[in-house]
Amino acid sequence: MEPFKYLVGYPEHLLAKVRQLIEQGRLGTMLADRYAEPNMVRNDAQLYDYVQALKDRHLRKAVPLGKVLYDSKLQVMKHALGTHTAISRVHGGRLKASREIRIATVFRDAPADFLRMIVVHELAHMKEADHNKAFYQLCTHMEPDYHQLEFDLRLYLTHMELTRG
Ligand SMILES: [Zn+2]
Repeated sequence: MEPFKYLVGYPEHLLAKVRQLIEQGRLGTMLADRYAEPNMVRNDAQLYDYVQALKDRHLRKAVPLGKVLYDSKLQVMKHALGTHTAISRVHGGRLKASREIRIATVFRDAPADFLRMIVVHELAHMKEADHNKAFYQLCTHMEPDYHQLEFDLRLYLTHMELTRG
């Protein structure tokens, strides 16, 4: 297993801190303390309403939403976030103005803040196909803490992988 696959591209001093947290067995409690609010969005109908509400608030003029669903086949790194260093084309085959939003099922059981982060990410893709500067400006417009949340989500995924089984 490659425990830091979620953190590719982040600077070494950050990775050293993460390594230390893991060695001291503190990563899980740190995340649980910081992200205590459980995700109450339990099914696709609730997810649709949740995404629609965020879209109404921030991207009212974008194309209307199509389908919105939790997808158990989606791999977070491959389809949702890409690696930190990837600049473009991580969403192979994605249409430029995709109306459909699929959220990896792992987010259903993750803390509420991480769902908001990934929904903001996917909504931003309604206007920007690539992970470029304009894309991240949209993300931080919708969620000022976007970068911290994305980093902590990567920590969360790392922790899940380390503690699985
Ligand atoms: Zn993306």
